[in-house]
Amino acid sequence: MSVLELSLFIALVLLGQIAIVAIIIFYRHWRTYLKLKANVKSFGDGLLDEPTMQQVKPGSWQGLRELRVVRKIYENPCKSICSFYLAPVDGPPLPDFLPGQFLTFQFDAKDPATGEHKNVTRCYSLSDRSNTGYYRVSIKRELAPSTPPNLPPGQISNYFHDKVSEGDILYARAPGGNFFLEASNAPIVLIAGGVGITPMLSMLNTVLQEESLREIWLFYGVRNSSEHVMKSHLEALARKHRNFRLCTCYSRPLPSDVIGVDYWQQGRINIGLLRLTLSFRPYHFYICGPTALLESLVPAIDKWGVPRQFVHYEAFGPASIRLPSEKPKSAAPQGSTAKNIFVTFSKSKKTIAWEGDEANILEFAEKSGIMIDSGCRSGSCGTCQVKIEEGEVDYMQPPDIDPEPGHCLLCISRPKCNLTLMA
Ligand SMILES: Cc1cc2nc3c(=O)[nH]c(=O)nc-3n(C[C@H](O)[C@H](O)[C@H](O)COP(=O)(O)OP(=O)(O)OC[C@H]3O[C@@H](n4cnc5c(N)ncnc54)[C@H](O)[C@@H]3O)c2cc1C
Repeated sequence: MSVLELSLFIALVLLGQIAIVAIIIFYRHWRTYLKLKANVKSFGDGLLDEPTMQQVKPGSWQGLRELRVVRKIYENPCKSICSFYLAPVDGPPLPDFLPGQFLTFQFDAKDPATGEHKNVTRCYSLSDRSNTGYYRVSIKRELAPSTPPNLPPGQISNYFHDKVSEGDILYARAPGGNFFLEASNAPIVLIAGGVGITPMLSMLNTVLQEESLREIWLFYGVRNSSEHVMKSHLEALARKHRNFRLCTCYSRPLPSDVIGVDYWQQGRINIGLLRLTLSFRPYHFYICGPTALLESLVPAIDKWGVPRQFVHYEAFGPASIRLPSEKPKSAAPQGSTAKNIFVTFSKSKKTIAWEGDEANILEFAEKSGIMIDSGCRSGSCGTCQVKIEEGEVDYMQPPDIDPEPGHCLLCISRPKCNLTLMA
């Protein structure tokens, strides 16, 4: 064999080896790609299938039920959040609920402005899983805002912290609400800001108690270890369950807080952090927290390309979330035209043109300076029920409770024609 032939032979062998390695690498990548594609597809298809996790049917009772406080316990070192364990006073055991749902409490309270007694309603998320023999709510003490001065602190949360004791009886409507963990095996990302951790605790405790292998992440944003709710419980869950990843972010860590030990990252939860941390999976997002968190994160997750039906959120107060490609709210609600519709609030003696910009009549009234009592803002608690004197409304979703005849729930309705409301 000549030198040329030998060189050619060696070159061919080398080329052959390179080709074999390239084919193996390509094959591996192709298999990974096909797996991911199948994963997304089967997950998407699964949306229409029967749920894989057993879906509990939320139980119910009519009107208010007596519940006894059987345990009261603070959940963080600074004692800003307190849990109340509730048991039935009589009647059947407490019905199941869906993780993420809330209780609506009613109190006979003094109006701080007028001194008159009136019924006051507040919603509190159930913060543990169903089927424990008790209900648990975890309530943050709402302090008075620093500006303007001399405003009173939150009425009912402070009442809970200061006046409600073990043995006391409270009055609550059955669990309700449309923000709950959907039954499936889809991987989930829970995002909680501050007291928004409460529905997430219920979701987390439910999934992990079932010993399912469902992938679950919790991004929990809180100031520091002093406000950190149920720190040891969350850390114990993360140690025990390999499918659960706990990512706690402290925005203002204390000098004694140690990164990597007490918390995972410094700062607030934002889209950059989520994109860096989460891999390419068809996650379902559940978000609950302050208005600012929702208003920044929900549109950013949408922009990231997460399908809308995979993003679920709840605000504990007013929050207006506009998604970039959403149809302008000025589009008329079904069955009505936004043009030439006027809403009259007879008690406030105001008539205002409905331009269709607000999500519902409650937001419309608030923007017009007419304050109306509200609770859940999702058609479940009945607080914003108002009498219709003239006209009709369209519901954007079926109410969870039936309004009294001739009344409507403002938080989920829009005017169908000229409307006069007793408000
Ligand atoms: C579905 C849902 C679930 C919820 N789950 C939870 C939960 O799990 N845990 C929880 O802690 N909360 C939860 N909330 C919030 C809760 O319902 C109450 O809104 C919260 O406890 C505050 O009620 P409050 O009566 O203490 O305060 P409010 O008396 O309603 O006052 C609210 C704030 O306004 C301030 N304020 C008072 N007067 C004025 C004024 N004139 N002008 C301006 N500001 C004023 C107060 O100081 C206070 O900071 C939930 C809400 C919803 C809708």
